[in-house]
Amino acid sequence: MANSQYEYVKQFEQPDRLLPNTWIVIRIDGRGFTKFASKYGFEKPNDRRALELMNAAARAVMSELPDITIAYGVSDEYSFVFHKSCSLFDRRSSKLVSTIVSTFTAYYVHFWPSHFPNTPLSPPLPSFDGRAVCYPTVQNLQDYMSWRQVDCHINNLYNTTFWALIQQGGMDATEAEKKLKGTLAADKNEILFSQFGINYNNEPEMYKKGSVVFRDYEPVDPGTHNATAEVDNMARPVQQSKTQAENDKKKRAKAPIVVEHISIINRDFWDRRPWLLS
Ligand code: ATP
Ligand code: ATP
Ligand code: MG
Ligand code: MG
Ligand code: MG
Ligand code: MG
Ligand code: MG
Repeated sequence: MANSQYEYVKQFEQPDRLLPNTWIVIRIDGRGFTKFASKYGFEKPNDRRALELMNAAARAVMSELPDITIAYGVSDEYSFVFHKSCSLFDRRSSKLVSTIVSTFTAYYVHFWPSHFPNTPLSPPLPSFDGRAVCYPTVQNLQDYMSWRQVDCHINNLYNTTFWALIQQGGMDATEAEKKLKGTLAADKNEILFSQFGINYNNEPEMYKKGSVVFRDYEPVDPGTHNATAEVDNMARPVQQSKTQAENDKKKRAKAPIVVEHISIINRDFWDRRPWLLS
């Protein structure tokens, strides 16, 4: 439609480039998954199949978008982190968000039958919303990730206790809610242990910690590795040659994408994998 009388309408588009040199986090979240979970009979409080399906979709998104550094998932949400140097789609927010959301949703539907072989999907089909937020410092980004993981922990401890009271304690939802009102973490641990013989520490790591997805392209031997020295090396302003940068990019694109259920609040996670934030 070059030079047509209609072309002026293009002027109505608003620029939406995200702030340069900031870490871009795109968080997606399942729409109405409380209802969706009950429609498909998700086990409460945690349906392992549903979480593994989320993880499979997140891995697929990461393999299609090599600019993503790390992702973190819990419940019906996933956060994808783009490196601060990312220039994909000229950093246009709507392009980035809509591409992540539609790629994730497409894979969620594609992988559904292998995780729920006996329960075919039927309309209304699963959908996700998404938003982009920019974090200017590594500390802000790590705090963002910690915020999501702490949320996972708090919700999981609550939900584990809530559902134990219902499933094993014979309470209804109102009674369980009343029993938990005003309780601290220690109280919930105590209810789980004394009433149901559940040691919360022994609950599956995926439920307690959520899922961390990243490219494992520079495995470091934890025994001999000196993290501080490595970070210093990377911080030094040495100009990387073009071939070196290209090789690095290729290596990253080929690296296996792993899903782990570990603490990202602990600095150790980042110290051991300096390439994630370099
Ligand atoms: P909204 O559209 O506002 O996001 P929502 O119903 O999806 O509404 P959320 O706060 O996102 O609300 O909560 C997600 C819901 O999905 C919770 O009720 C949670 O228990 C359920 N859910 C998600 N994943 C699982 C899972 N793996 N197992 C059991 N329940 C799950
Ligand atoms: P971008 O990711 O930037 O959108 P693109 O390759 O999708 O890149 P578009 O400008 O969106 O570029 O163009 C869509 C392309 O898909 C065109 O090449 C168009 O010919 C092709 N295409 C779309 N629908 C059809 C169709 N129904 N039949 C044949 N070709 C189609
Ligand atoms: Mg087009
Ligand atoms: Mg929501
Ligand atoms: Mg939701
Ligand atoms: Mg949610
Ligand atoms: Mg197109």
